[in-house]
Amino acid sequence: MTIETPSLEQNKHVHIETLGCQMNKSDSEKMLGLLASEGYAWTDTADNADLILINSCSIRENAVNRLIGHLGRLKPLKKKNPELIIGVGGCVPQHEKENLLKRVPHLDLVFGTQTFHKLPELVREFKETQRPIVSIVRQIDEYPEETPVIREGKHHAWITVQHGCSAFCTFCIVPYTRGQQISRSVESIKEEIRKVAAEGYKEITLLGQNINTYGFDLEPAMTLGKLLHEVHDIDGIERIRFLTSHPINMRDDLIDAMADLPKVCEYMHLALQSGDNDVLKRMRRNHTVEFFGEWVDKMRARMPDMVLTTDLIVGYPGETEEQFQRTVEAVRRFAFDVTNTASYSPRPRTPAAMFKDQIDEETKSRRLNELNLVVREVALIQNRRHLGGIQQVMVESYDEVRGNLKGRTRGNKIVHFSGNPRLVGEIVDVKIFDVTPNSLRGRMLVS
Ligand code: SF4
Repeated sequence: MTIETPSLEQNKHVHIETLGCQMNKSDSEKMLGLLASEGYAWTDTADNADLILINSCSIRENAVNRLIGHLGRLKPLKKKNPELIIGVGGCVPQHEKENLLKRVPHLDLVFGTQTFHKLPELVREFKETQRPIVSIVRQIDEYPEETPVIREGKHHAWITVQHGCSAFCTFCIVPYTRGQQISRSVESIKEEIRKVAAEGYKEITLLGQNINTYGFDLEPAMTLGKLLHEVHDIDGIERIRFLTSHPINMRDDLIDAMADLPKVCEYMHLALQSGDNDVLKRMRRNHTVEFFGEWVDKMRARMPDMVLTTDLIVGYPGETEEQFQRTVEAVRRFAFDVTNTASYSPRPRTPAAMFKDQIDEETKSRRLNELNLVVREVALIQNRRHLGGIQQVMVESYDEVRGNLKGRTRGNKIVHFSGNPRLVGEIVDVKIFDVTPNSLRGRMLVS
């Protein structure tokens, strides 16, 4: 992507390390775009960078200590190059703020999820004052202006449609680190999609922490189903997906849009979190397992080949062995294609962190291992359904060592097959002849 703003920092290099979710990855692409407009070029290694940024994540336990350990390892680079600027952005600064500066004296910039678009300003301010800069805002009032983006992918683009989340599930730190939900206007979303289509991108994923509530806060109100209709006919885009869905906000118009609009892939990441109704209640998810099942049945009735993925947590405070077994059963019952599993870890300021009945680490670890075995078994069963079938695969990359192409099906499954590197960026038909729990292997059909 060409950035046409004047270069103020010739021959300067930035290195960004991104931890955590797709939203952080998308934010890092924007940070890079902003800094490129200041003349910074990307470097793969921290060793020869003039600016090192860590886009941090709070989802895992000990995120702060791990981050501080990592920053400590960067200190020798600062000794080698006293002009090196080191900054931390993302979720951790949202709750740690100045603490980070106290614990890491060689840190120069601390910014949050709501202020990264000010990065060029913050870097300049630091250079002028040579004093550490902290820029954190808890809640923005309106959707931030779009910034330049340098995307990692060449054929697939993340399109953020919503900031923050207002669901306040008891285990989750997102509403505290990213603020409450603010939806982006339809026109601004369409403008970005037209732009990526003009740059040659064929596949997009609309991104929101709780994307099924997209547009509820707009005036007039919108829905995700209507948004899919709005963006569907943009020329050049061939596939559309969206992430992440909460069952409580499922709507018929969304299923209709998925089933009726050919570019919308038959894929949904619908987070269940637990297979037990009492645990779901304590998680403040506001739905039951049966409710989840009704929507899954509805979707599969309309889209029999639909790929369904989910998130599950084990060892939530108070989770009994029976409740945990219901989560294991849920993986079989709903036949998830991919399940992201995690053992519960208390996050600062969340209600569940204060619950007295925390589960010990040994039990959590045992439950996680047991669940993962079933997750792999079910994923393999799901992938076997594709044996002998033909998948439309968007070719993403070529592995020179193995001479293999790698791509994704409409359902987001990874496929490996032999072929010419010139096919990268194309959509081709591949007949599947082998599967593992994580991927498919096939042979390209020549038309
Ligand atoms: S809906 Fe998702 S992002 Fe929002 S609070 Fe719940 S788990 Fe967190």
